[in-house]
Amino acid sequence: MRLRILVLPGDGIGPEVLAQAVRVLQVVGRLFGHVIECADAPIGGAAIHLTGVPLPDGTKRLALDADATLLGAVGRPEFDGYPPDRRPERGLLELRSVMGVYANLRPVRALPCLLSASPLKPEIVAGTDLVVVRELTAGLYYGKPRGIFGEGAETRAVDTMAYTRAEIERVARVAFDLALTRRRHVTSVDKSNVLENSRLWRQVVTDVAREYPAVTLTHLYVDNCAMQLIIRPTQFDVLLTENTFGDILSDEAAVLAGSIGLLPSASLGDVRPSGIRAGLYEPIHGSAPDIAGRNIANPLGAIGSVAAMFDYGFNLKAEARAIENAIETVIAGGTVTSDLARDGHSATTTEVGDAVCAAIEARHARVVA
Ligand code: NAD
Repeated sequence: MRLRILVLPGDGIGPEVLAQAVRVLQVVGRLFGHVIECADAPIGGAAIHLTGVPLPDGTKRLALDADATLLGAVGRPEFDGYPPDRRPERGLLELRSVMGVYANLRPVRALPCLLSASPLKPEIVAGTDLVVVRELTAGLYYGKPRGIFGEGAETRAVDTMAYTRAEIERVARVAFDLALTRRRHVTSVDKSNVLENSRLWRQVVTDVAREYPAVTLTHLYVDNCAMQLIIRPTQFDVLLTENTFGDILSDEAAVLAGSIGLLPSASLGDVRPSGIRAGLYEPIHGSAPDIAGRNIANPLGAIGSVAAMFDYGFNLKAEARAIENAIETVIAGGTVTSDLARDGHSATTTEVGDAVCAAIEARHARVVA
């Protein structure tokens, strides 16, 4: 295939981890016979410095034109006091909206070699293999009106949570389709005992479930879900939820795997006329300003996002498995950054990238031989 990939390094550790992800992408492209064309563009704080806005028009156009977009991270402490619409993070929210990527998938798997890195007891976390499907372009983060109004004691802050039936249906279908390729269980998370949005959510998800008789649907309140994730994470297969709940639950689920630096994500939209699904792929972590520029950030979340791109975006399963296998081999072999190192010896970001590329090459050579 000829694949045109837009690379958005962003801020903080974004450029460092994405550089390793792009190396892995090029290796896989070469070994599997794909022509990979990468173009870079600014987003976030880097874009504000260059153009005055966190998502320049040129970046938007390139993202709409590319077959897939890879993102590092956005966010810089220098913008912390700025209003939300002038912060680097706004660029990412806008990009998701412009690209129409409404379903955010975050796979979480507890690798046997990393059980001791989880804050939970190994016997609780062993066997965890779940995907959080979070609605990404509606709900509280996008609803209008929003703002801080009035003065003095009467100052009032307003955020609006709103969902349409169509917005819930399309993300629910992504979750049920995914469940068909896995253990066929969807847990839908809401707060329907309190919120009107959640009452509609539960009703619509139940309706969509009728189209998928092979999939079991369970409903769970979000507070109970937060608890169940740490009591018995192995009960979950596909966890479907709205934007805000998903933001929080997916970070909670992330620590099950051992480190936030390890986890990839895919944000998916509709299938385009080209047959390729609109997709934005990024590690789930932020720009980590506390460790930026030191070549110590874990690049595996970014590298895993390349695997997610091959898997969900291009339906190229062998390429995705090659990257995932290499990640497991490298972790098991102990070439890990300090967030995962247990014996005091840690590798640099670049060394982990080297090791993943070498593991892909080595396995490919064995398979071909
Ligand atoms: P963060 O994910 O950047 O960092 C949280 C902690 O995890 C830090 O201690 C950091 O050092 C560590 N960490 C994160 N990624 C790591 C990696 N790859 N390897 C090793 N350690 C890693 O979250 P934060 O500190 O809450 O936010 C920092 C900035 O990032 C803020 O400006 C925030 O708005 C932004 N942010 C951006 C995104 C995104 O771009 N998708 C997501 C979350 C936060």
